[in-house]
This record gives sequence, C-alpha cells and structure tokens, in this order.
Amino acid sequence: MQLPVLSPPDELPIGEESSTEKLIEWTLERFSDQRVVLTTGFGMEGCALIEMYAAHRKPMDVIYLDTMFFFPETYSLIDKLKSRHPYLNFINRGTTLTPEEQELQYGAQLWKKNPDLCCQLRKVDPMRETLKDIDVWITGVRRSQAPSRAGVKVVEWNWKYQVLKISPLAKWSRKSIRDFVESHQVPYNELHDKGYPSVGCTHCTRAVPGLSADRYSREGRWAGTEKTECGLHT
Ligand code: SF4
Repeated sequence: MQLPVLSPPDELPIGEESSTEKLIEWTLERFSDQRVVLTTGFGMEGCALIEMYAAHRKPMDVIYLDTMFFFPETYSLIDKLKSRHPYLNFINRGTTLTPEEQELQYGAQLWKKNPDLCCQLRKVDPMRETLKDIDVWITGVRRSQAPSRAGVKVVEWNWKYQVLKISPLAKWSRKSIRDFVESHQVPYNELHDKGYPSVGCTHCTRAVPGLSADRYSREGRWAGTEKTECGLHT
C-alpha cells in the first residue's frame, strides 16, 4: 500500500479553522515538489476554485474527465477557462471508450439501464487511472451540496484513490460561491442561469424549474432514480 505524503491529522499545520486562502497557499508551498492535480467537472465551484489557484500564477495541472456526453455549453466553458488561465494546464483524462464502443459492449443507453456501471466506465475508472500517480488531489467539493458530502474534510487521506484529498471549498455555501464568481467575473456554465444547478452529462442532467443559480441541488441529476452521485467522491 502506498504511504500517505502526510498522515492527517497528526502532522497537519492547517485545518478546518484555516482560511481558504491560507489553505491554498499552503498546498502550493507544502507540495511544490509533489504530484498535485486539481480535478473539476466545471461546476460553478470548480470554476471558482480554478480562479483561486490561478491567481497565484503557478503552473498546475487541471484534470477533467470528458465523458463524451458533455453539453455544448460545457465545452464552450472549457475553452473560456483555457484562455483565461494560461498558467494552468487543462488536461482531459476522460475515457477512450467511445459511445459507439460502449453501446456495442454494454448495449444501448447504458445510462438508463445501469447508470452506476456507465459512471464507473466513464468517470470512476478514468479518475482512478488519473490519480494512481498523484500525491495530492484538490477538489471543489462542498459539504452542503448533498448529505453524501456532509462529512467532507478540508484535508483528508482518501483511501479509495490513495491520495491526500484537499477540498478548500468544503465549508463554502453555494451563495458564497456565486458571490465570488460574480465579484471576480469568473466564467461559469451558462446552463446554471437556465435552471441547471448542477451540470453533468446530457443524458443524466435536467433543469430544476424555479431554482436560481444561487441555489445548489442535485435534484436534476439522474432525475427519477435514487442515484445522486457518480461515485467520484463517495
Ligand atoms: S452521468 Fe450518466 S451518461 Fe454520464 S457517465 Fe454517468 S450514467 Fe453515464
């Protein structure tokens, strides 16, 4: 088993009480010689977090997993973020399994018949492959996004992927994210302003009528099923 680069909580000079800015500075300094990545699905949180790290003008790998089922608005956002942040290396580490190959191997519309398997193939397996050579994993996950995320710590060892996981926005609310994005004129997915509080794959994401971009919900993800998570963070 790979050994943690740190053994939280004993060695951590930083914790829940630390400010987000201090935490970001700490990750950049403490792990400057480690393999660090920020991963994102390009939600509003991810866009805000990318902005916070980019402000330090230090090169960093920003990894995303293109499922090949992104909305056109998401691809457009990726282009905007790449132009805005030349210090960052945006890298697609998504699956190479094409939708056509998936259909041949697993049948049509796997996302309806077995969404857990579809997410495993197109998200979880690529993430595991991505993180196998990584020491520190930075994410934009927040506790109030869903009950399944309520226990997220700002800094924690992630046994699933065997990396140190840092979630600087764990304590943030959606409203505070929205305020940050507005005040810094951060590009974000225009679907958020069209009733999509959370944006994933086209097949599994719906608008939630009446929800403004200030409010987060996972209601529109895998609507009509019990599923609320793709499995990356659970
Ligand atoms: S969100 Fe839907 S389409 Fe995307 S990987 Fe998961 S099940 Fe498949």
